[in-house]
This record gives sequence, C-alpha cells and structure tokens, in this order.
Amino acid sequence: MSGDASHRPLDLRSDTVTRPDETMRAAMAAAEVGDDILDGDPTVRALEEKAAEILGTEATLWVPSGTMGNLIALTVHLRPGDRFLAPALAHVVEFELGGWASFAGGVPHALPWSAGPGRVSPASVRASVPPSQPYDALRDRLLCLENTHNAAGGTVTGPGEHRAVTATAKEAGLLVHLDGARIWNAAVSLDVQPAELTWGVDSVLACLSKGLCAPMGSVLGGSAEFVRAARRLRKMVGGAVRQGGVMAAAGLVALSRIELLRNDHSNARVLASGLRDLGWEAASPETNIVLARVTDAERRVSELHRMGILATTISGAVRFVTHADLSEKDIQEVIWRISSMSP
Ligand SMILES: *Cc1c(COP(=O)(O)O)cnc(C)c1O
Repeated sequence: MSGDASHRPLDLRSDTVTRPDETMRAAMAAAEVGDDILDGDPTVRALEEKAAEILGTEATLWVPSGTMGNLIALTVHLRPGDRFLAPALAHVVEFELGGWASFAGGVPHALPWSAGPGRVSPASVRASVPPSQPYDALRDRLLCLENTHNAAGGTVTGPGEHRAVTATAKEAGLLVHLDGARIWNAAVSLDVQPAELTWGVDSVLACLSKGLCAPMGSVLGGSAEFVRAARRLRKMVGGAVRQGGVMAAAGLVALSRIELLRNDHSNARVLASGLRDLGWEAASPETNIVLARVTDAERRVSELHRMGILATTISGAVRFVTHADLSEKDIQEVIWRISSMSP
C-alpha cells in the first residue's frame, strides 16, 4: 500500500480550510435575499432563527467572523476598568489581537486549567473574584468560557461542569460569554444538544466556517436585548452586510450537517492512534484536534510540509485538525507518509 501517487498536500492545519461543496454552493446561488441593513434579508433571518433554536438562545445575530462575534460580545459586556476571566490560552485572549483592549476596554485574567485541559473549576472562578474590592481595583465583570478549548486540543466541557462553573460565576456577579466556535464538536462528542452547553450564558459565539464548511460566518446568540446591542456594534465595526442571505444560505446548510462532525472525530482518533503506533506522543482526542508533543515542533512541521502534510504548531506541540475535506483514506495516507519519518 504505497502512498497517494499524486502526493497531493493533505491539509490538517485547521478545519477552517473546508470548502463549500456543490450542495452548499447551489443553496447559496438560489438564496432569496434582501438588504439586511435596510429592511432585512429573509435568508439571514431564517439562519438567525434556526441558530437560536439550536443554541437555545432567544435570538442570534450573523457575523462575518468568530473574532468579530467575540469582539462584539465583549464590547457589550465590558466597560473600561473591567476585568474578564478566561481559561489560559483562550482564543479570545491569545489569537484575536486584543481587540477588547482598544474597543471593549477590559483587561484579561487567565484562569488555570484546574478542571482538566482547557477547563476551569468553579473553585478557581470563586477564588479569582474577591467578595469585596477597593474602589481602585479592576472590576470583575465577565467569565469567558471556551468549548471546545482550541489550544488545549479541542477539549470538551460537559453540561454538568458547564452549569456548575456558570452558576458559580453568576453567584459571584459575573456575566458569562461562551466562545463556542466549536460548540458543535463539543455537542456531538458528548451526544447532547448544543443548547445543553449554553445554560445560563449571557452570550454565545458559534462558527459556521470551521468543520461545518460554510465559506464564512458565525452566529452570536443571547437575549433579544443583547442581540439588539450586538446589532448596533456589528454596524459600527463594519460587519453589517447587504445581501447576506448568500452567506446565510451556506450557514443553513452548515447547521444541517452538525452530525457529520462525528466522522472528523473518528478520523482524529484514527490519526492519534496511528501516530502513537509510530512512537509519537499524541493524546487521544476528544474531538477533531490532535496535539502531538515533540521536541522541536517548528522543525517537525517543516519536515511534515516536505512530505505533503500541512500542520501547525501550538504551545510547543504539533497540531493536526481533521475536517470534512479529509476522508479516512486521507488519514491513512497521512499515517503512511509519517511512517517514513523518525519519531
Ligand atoms: C476560530 C476561533 C475563533 C475565531 O473565529 P474566526 O472566524 O477565525 O475569526 C474564536 N474562538 C475559537 C475558540 C476559535 O477556534
């Protein structure tokens, strides 16, 4: 079983590389549209309603990117002089260029992964929020959760733990934002409805452009009042669009495919176990992200690149992400190509 003759690069850098297939493109081409800034776009409205139903929020707002959704949420929630808590290596803190610093006005505080990789315990939330504060202390306003946690390797927080942490945050007087860019992966991995993972949150962000293959777009959910405020901010940051229905049509197809993420998860397990058989140190993934501990991650990624395997590094590990544009056969091909490397 020699390798793929064409030696086409196999792209495991991210599930964002997924492209819309024919069905999605056909839905986009056929979308009924209107001017979403003037009097509304019917397909955007349909997507926002469907997403609200799935996420269990009163309303949602389509936004062009996850980063913009998080920025808008934090801007609704935070004031200058506020502090927000987030698990260490949260995407919103590390990979969004600190938009909150210049726009929302808050200051981040990293919480340790006290409940497991990427997960924070109620006790660590409680311990970070003193019951009373002098007037010149930062005001703790918000807890930002991340499910799945990207940098921890797509780790999942279950509904019971989510409730406990959220309830503790509320008791401490905090608002809660959930960066659920990959909440769909979490739900599929846990075999629960996404709405079970949004209990008690004041806002939730979920991406349509990752494993679900939409070319762009995320949804930001919360109360009707939150979404009204978010809509104004979306306009302010230039994220309101006109015939957004073309993109929303892709989003609706994306939402009908959440169950397919199971394949990505099973491919990730196949990859991790193949890597382990080859002597790599790769933990068994909870979702679609495989982290492999290596001594020199940058060098490893260059070597992989030369063999036609695209991956990235994250906190000193090599990160492989499985997605809809990679079949199980492609994953076998990845393992085959890697088998010629020394571990
Ligand atoms: C990808 C991602 C985002 C941002 O989404 P973009 O659409 O790339 O801006 C936010 N949070 C997490 C956890 C992500 O993985």
